[in-house]
Amino acid sequence: MAVATETGDEGCLHHRALPTLDPIAVDALAKAVKPLLDEDDTLAQWCTNANVERFLRADRGHLGKATKRLTETLRWRQQVRPESQMCTACFGKDLRSHYMQHVGWDKRGRALVYSDIGMAVDKNASSNAEHCMQVLELLEPQLNKFPNDQYVWVVDFHKFGVADMSPKVAGACLGLFGKSYPERLGGMIIVGAPMLFNGLYRAVCTFADPVTVKKVRFCQSPDGKGGGKNWDTVMDEFFSLETKYWLATEMRENRAKWKTVGKQKSWLASVVTGCGNTHGWQAAYEREREEKGESKSKKSSSKTKELDTSSEFPPKSLPGHDIRGCVSFLSSNASVAARERALRHASKGEATRGVVLAAAMKNLPPGFALENLETHEAEDAFYDARDCL
Ligand SMILES: [Zn+2]
Repeated sequence: MAVATETGDEGCLHHRALPTLDPIAVDALAKAVKPLLDEDDTLAQWCTNANVERFLRADRGHLGKATKRLTETLRWRQQVRPESQMCTACFGKDLRSHYMQHVGWDKRGRALVYSDIGMAVDKNASSNAEHCMQVLELLEPQLNKFPNDQYVWVVDFHKFGVADMSPKVAGACLGLFGKSYPERLGGMIIVGAPMLFNGLYRAVCTFADPVTVKKVRFCQSPDGKGGGKNWDTVMDEFFSLETKYWLATEMRENRAKWKTVGKQKSWLASVVTGCGNTHGWQAAYEREREEKGESKSKKSSSKTKELDTSSEFPPKSLPGHDIRGCVSFLSSNASVAARERALRHASKGEATRGVVLAAAMKNLPPGFALENLETHEAEDAFYDARDCL
């Protein structure tokens, strides 16, 4: 039952626990969950040998615990079908609901997930967890092999405020990682955290998995603000120059042009339209709704006014900066797969229809059969996420 080699440095961001597993234990865990897989092809496809090993590793070789966690995860996957879900808040309510996405890789080939706390207009715990699930499910098929089958999460805290102080959001996301995606989080780099964050950090540490807490590293922003180590030191340790400069450009832009570009960026709109340099889709959406008389509240019309005061509309990022990710990432399978998934969900979402979908039509990936978009009603056009897998 208890197995293999303990490395003794589980907390280090560059080492993995239990690099060698007992093949008998791996086999026993696979057998224990086999009845569930026999009745469900999607689960069977997902539950590869690598995933069985990952769950055993997550419980440090303890077969009983690993069986429980893997069984619960399989039942959850059977019920939720996370591989076919996308974030309902981002697609359905506001294109800027969340700002957390896969944008590149670290030096070892682990996925780089980047998020900006202030950019997310939605502070709800369950919808943030749902967005995390979308990010992780998009990642899963794109990850490299063990020991690099993980992601490093870079979080920019420059606009972290009182509204972000609820430990519920962090708890919901970290809970999801531990429960259903164990051994995926390779490291978390917190950039530019203000003093205010210390209170939340202490609160989260009391309930988060200590192994997760050890993976956190603090780093100053590119302009030298916030707590932690020097920007260059941390970035050079993890990322190539290309990735480091993408992150620096993104973070500097969000600080310098927060009122225009910064708060209007939507990863989802950029991915659906195929353009990561133009922003302000939410304002265009609000305006379209107003013109059609669909705008329900005064709040949305005042928001439109507020967003339209920009001198440049739609606002653009710095030349050459694409918010969808690094240049090397944009040509990757991960980027192509994310766009295909987003396009297939776009006509279903209230926020991604209309102006966003119209822009997407001009820039479809080669061979992507979306002719239905023009001829069908949004509800029945090409929407069955399970078909796109
Ligand atoms: Zn979202």
